[in-house]
Amino acid sequence: MALMITDECINCDVCEPECPNKAISQGAEIYEIDPDLCTECVGHYNEPQCQQVCPVDCIPLDPDRKESKDELQQKYLKLISAS
Ligand code: SF4
Ligand code: SF4
Repeated sequence: MALMITDECINCDVCEPECPNKAISQGAEIYEIDPDLCTECVGHYNEPQCQQVCPVDCIPLDPDRKESKDELQQKYLKLISAS
């Protein structure tokens, strides 16, 4: 599953540089995650790095974006071969 940022985001900027896939960017009002780039950090780290650093805990899994670990691994491999 990709992660999503809820409207509790306080725009603290802490998560953006932590994302190894550059999936996080500033949106119109709050930060956003591009679900096509988020691998739950699979391939890079054991834990989602953005969740680790967010001070207000506003980055849950997106229930509309269910993906298995295998699918996330495939996404990771595609992303590194495209970069
Ligand atoms: Fe980026 Fe990892 Fe957070 Fe996904 S879980 S947005 S890949 S830091
Ligand atoms: Fe928003 Fe949390 Fe990212 Fe800060 S770390 S910008 S509060 S999502």
